[in-house]
Amino acid sequence: MRIVVLTGGIGGARFLVGVRAHARRIGAEVTAVVNVGDDVRMHGLQICPDLDSVMYTLGGAADPDRGWGRVGETWVVKEELAKYGAEPSWFGLGDKDTATHLVRTTMLNAGYPLSAVTTALCDRWQPGIKMLPASDDRLETHVVVDVEGERKAIHFQEWWVRYRGDVPTHRFVFVGAETAKPAAGVLEAIGNADVVLVAPSNPVVSIAPILAVQQLKEAVLDGPAPVVGVSPIIGGSPVRGMADRCLATLGVEVSANGVAGLYGARRDNGLLDGWLVDTTDESANIPGVTTRAVPLWMTDEDKTATMVAEALRLAEELR
Ligand code: GDP
Ligand code: CA
Repeated sequence: MRIVVLTGGIGGARFLVGVRAHARRIGAEVTAVVNVGDDVRMHGLQICPDLDSVMYTLGGAADPDRGWGRVGETWVVKEELAKYGAEPSWFGLGDKDTATHLVRTTMLNAGYPLSAVTTALCDRWQPGIKMLPASDDRLETHVVVDVEGERKAIHFQEWWVRYRGDVPTHRFVFVGAETAKPAAGVLEAIGNADVVLVAPSNPVVSIAPILAVQQLKEAVLDGPAPVVGVSPIIGGSPVRGMADRCLATLGVEVSANGVAGLYGARRDNGLLDGWLVDTTDESANIPGVTTRAVPLWMTDEDKTATMVAEALRLAEELR
């Protein structure tokens, strides 16, 4: 069996730990198609937050408390940059992380596509699944905001890390999406998949930028595999992260129903055949989407693997 997962960073990485565990039991092959909209160049380094969250988490090296970056991180480079007054000073660049960014940036500068660079980095971390960036091309999420009385577009990282999403926010723009192609291997993985899972990731800034790559979206929508999504919202709460702020910007209700409505039913040219919601949301009802309620708290690997088993069971029924 071949499983493709569309995923962002922290929420998606936790989900993938469960996908990997279940896949090992049933002998399935897993490919994660990871959001690149958060990617940004800072201090001359190419930083890929979601790819790194997934890689470090599956490699057993993620910081469990902070949720991003490396466990046992130190911050000498960041402090030294601050002493030079080098901007941006609000970005948390860890020393261990910096080595990853240096290897990545050197390879990109030498002409390797991000997908090849990701494979090379994964040689060290052995995530146990195939990791692919959604695109090898530049695709960045920018946010139209009002700051200091001025309307402007800032990079998603600045909106998220510097302003904590707490500025008047108008919309999200996926810069480069019109021309971005799926990364090497993505269309093949989707075309050969037995199921496509949509991780419980931020729908607005993790999943939407993946689907903004037109050929990738068409491959999922027109492909043979059933698409089952997992709700990132439990009982009106985004659990961790700021999905609520992102959904509010779009005027979408912060609920399992709201997110499913945003994704849409596949029969109406949307994304979903099936939708897994938490047991507290069992009244969720989206016309054209088969909904199932199971516990969706990803508290440990076993519970998450059980969620994944339920998602695959639902997919099997929808095939
Ligand atoms: P990011 O790119 O690092 O922001 O991570 P993702 O976009 O992959 O995931 C963030 C989202 O994961 C959050 O907005 C939450 O809605 C969701 N999330 C986090 N923990 C849980 C959990 O235990 N269960 C569920 N269902 N969703 C979760
Ligand atoms: Ca992200």
